[in-house]
Amino acid sequence: MKLVFATNNLNKLAEVQKMLPKNIELLSLKDINCFDEVDETATTLEGNAKLKANHITQNFGFNCFADDTGLEVDALNGEPGVYSARYAGEPANAENNMQKLLHALTNKEQRLAQFRTAICLNIDGKQFIFDGVCKGEILKNKQGEKGFGYDPIFKPEGYAVSFAEMSSSQKNEISHRGLAIKKLINFLNEYKL
Ligand code: IMP
Repeated sequence: MKLVFATNNLNKLAEVQKMLPKNIELLSLKDINCFDEVDETATTLEGNAKLKANHITQNFGFNCFADDTGLEVDALNGEPGVYSARYAGEPANAENNMQKLLHALTNKEQRLAQFRTAICLNIDGKQFIFDGVCKGEILKNKQGEKGFGYDPIFKPEGYAVSFAEMSSSQKNEISHRGLAIKKLINFLNEYKL
């Protein structure tokens, strides 16, 4: 079965590709010649995931899923949340986002946070939502070089290292996106494969 993952982020595409069964042919936006930018104007992760998946299904006719992720920091009432990508303003910049977050938490001991991913799957005219949560805390300094986004300053609960110090397969096992993708894969296996 051909399935479009509505993303331009090659890191995420590679992460997900590793977790999919071989009988699902994952296509990127480039593979279907889609170079459109879908404005993420919703105020929830689920809303943005729906906007992106619907754009592909409506304009390109593929079964498709899209995800949206936010980093929700307790001491900041859930911010940056749905605005995580552009927390430090346009254009999106991971280093500036991390510095802004570290600054916002200066001298704060309460550093609990969670990554949350919402996935919207459009398949054969129906729509399904899956989510995944990874709880952890915001470190006081960056640790590690791997991954992307806020990985160097996020330490998942129960681990001594940041996401940026884990291999991608280690991270996939416990990450918000990994958990949401597992729900998606379980669903797809039951559904028709
Ligand atoms: P997106 O919806 O997956 O594009 O995620 C929005 C923003 O959240 C990204 O631009 C990153 O800054 C951040 N983000 C998403 N997933 C991760 C992750 O696995 N690690 C670190 N940061 C992430």
